[in-house]
Amino acid sequence: MSRLKSREKQRARKKSQTFEKRRFERYHKSLLAMIRVFDDPMLQEVCTPIENKEELVILKTLGKVLSATNNGIGLAAPQVGITKKAIAIRPDIKKREIKFLINPEIVEVIGKEVEVREGCLSYPGAWCNVKRNNAVIVEFLNEDMRKIRDSFVDMEAVTVQHEIDHISDPPKCYVGDYWRENIKGKQDG
Ligand SMILES: [Zn+2]
Repeated sequence: MSRLKSREKQRARKKSQTFEKRRFERYHKSLLAMIRVFDDPMLQEVCTPIENKEELVILKTLGKVLSATNNGIGLAAPQVGITKKAIAIRPDIKKREIKFLINPEIVEVIGKEVEVREGCLSYPGAWCNVKRNNAVIVEFLNEDMRKIRDSFVDMEAVTVQHEIDHISDPPKCYVGDYWRENIKGKQDG
């Protein structure tokens, strides 16, 4: 093989790497664009429970979008346009692990009340203080549709409570309320 040929090969490899990189960036952007924000009516829709394994395909989308965010620690299905009772949480942003809770329900509050500062992927830039419990017991289905009863503490407990609010009837998000009451009006006016 001649030197020239290897140089050509190198160039071709570089070109394809750039192509791959751009393709990945486009894909990454398209995932983030799936997040419904501010006045999107989807955020006010009532979600229905997941009833069979076939419906679990939505978890893929939920997981991919949450992973694509910089600092997201939780995401509920309606935030990506899916009106199903499912949430994803990322307990440690440095790790890739995502936990899925299907049809989650808080069955017991065991912690103490704490005031935390919450943000929400659907209301970027808005932050507000919310009173939460720092330990809760949640019943949900896992990815095998098996019923699980598990406790969540500290930040995980807060995240689970925030995400369950999004799939409640009616849906709720304190950060969204804060945005509507304090920021939206100023932006419009
Ligand atoms: Zn929220």
